[in-house]
Amino acid sequence: MARAPGRIEFIGNHTDYNGGTVLGASIDRAVWVALARRADGLRRFRSDRSDEMVEQPAAHPRKLFGPASWVNYPLGVLAALPEFKLRAPAGFDYLAASDLPIGAGLSSSAAIELASGLVFLGAAGEDPPRDTLVTLCRHAENHFVGVPSGILDQGVSGFGLKDHLVFIDCRGPRFDTVPLPAGAHFWIFNTHTKHALVDGLYAERHRECMEAACLLGVKLLADVSPAELALVAQALAAADPAFAGGGGSPPAVVNTAGGTPALPQATLLKRARHVIEEIARVDAAVIALRAGDLTEVGRLLTASHRSSQLLFENSTPELDFLVDTLASQPHVFGARLTGGGFGGAVMALTDGTFGEAQAGVVAASYGKKFGILPDILHTRTANGAELK
Ligand code: ADP
Ligand code: MG
Repeated sequence: MARAPGRIEFIGNHTDYNGGTVLGASIDRAVWVALARRADGLRRFRSDRSDEMVEQPAAHPRKLFGPASWVNYPLGVLAALPEFKLRAPAGFDYLAASDLPIGAGLSSSAAIELASGLVFLGAAGEDPPRDTLVTLCRHAENHFVGVPSGILDQGVSGFGLKDHLVFIDCRGPRFDTVPLPAGAHFWIFNTHTKHALVDGLYAERHRECMEAACLLGVKLLADVSPAELALVAQALAAADPAFAGGGGSPPAVVNTAGGTPALPQATLLKRARHVIEEIARVDAAVIALRAGDLTEVGRLLTASHRSSQLLFENSTPELDFLVDTLASQPHVFGARLTGGGFGGAVMALTDGTFGEAQAGVVAASYGKKFGILPDILHTRTANGAELK
């Protein structure tokens, strides 16, 4: 049997695919997977989220559609094992059970992949390094399930540690842990809102970041420091005062070898500024965490949200309202949207005095404005994925 936790994106918004850094927390909600070997080569899958039993022969896993499509997560892991030169178990009975909300931005998908990966490897007598497990599970999500997620989800579920945050330098990727000062609590407010175009908007931001990197003459935005970006912005403004409105031709400092950017430069520079300053905020948060300064950490969290709101434009009125309300409360260090944005959930970092009653007041004022209550989840850090 294996357990793999869900995760919170603590700080580092849209930094992963730009080669930047990110901090996440593995939480005390998880997916458990139990496996029993079968001699007849049949693979039978069950979950606490579905009444149906899914049977597959132990040949090549094929993608499923409809109500059985949840099985694509363990099947994707099975399909990835030989690609990573690892053996897979033949026949088995498989059961998944979970206390992790699905689709709440806490990455139940990475959790079911990691827990599945651990039991399959255990049953096949394989014990690869943790990096391999994490990369393999991400590969399953990207290539078998078909979701282009970054390394954050699997990395945090795989490398999580109680009372710590997971630091990821996404370029390696390189994983590390940073102690979380005592008395820090997480409160998640899930709005259940989702922008109708969320997948398209995510892809659009991805494209804008790549165009912004091209404009700045680098491969990835992580290659530019905030000071360098400020210099480029100044040079652009001096060479062409109209650039801020999006008009005019690019001045000489700008690399246009990859073609003229289709978007106004001002928009690209806003996206770049969010990512580049966000990476600096992640690094500042690591320093503040090591110093035990939760007030400074909270300030960085709320600054991250403001940047999402104003520069990256991936927030929503619902998320902004929750952050505004939470940030003005006592016992709250800071609050920000967590995950890709365009809907979803807000995370607040609080001290131990913040409780159900205070969370209820925040939820009620949200309910008064938007006519529906957000789900509230109080959660703390927990260890990463493990065989039990
Ligand atoms: P998130 O990762 O944010 O929770 P996703 O849409 O990426 O949302 O992944 C959710 C999917 O993961 C579910 O639709 C389901 O297919 C699968 N899943 C997660 N937990 C379980 C579980 N306990 N049993 C079966 N499937 C699960
Ligand atoms: Mg997911």
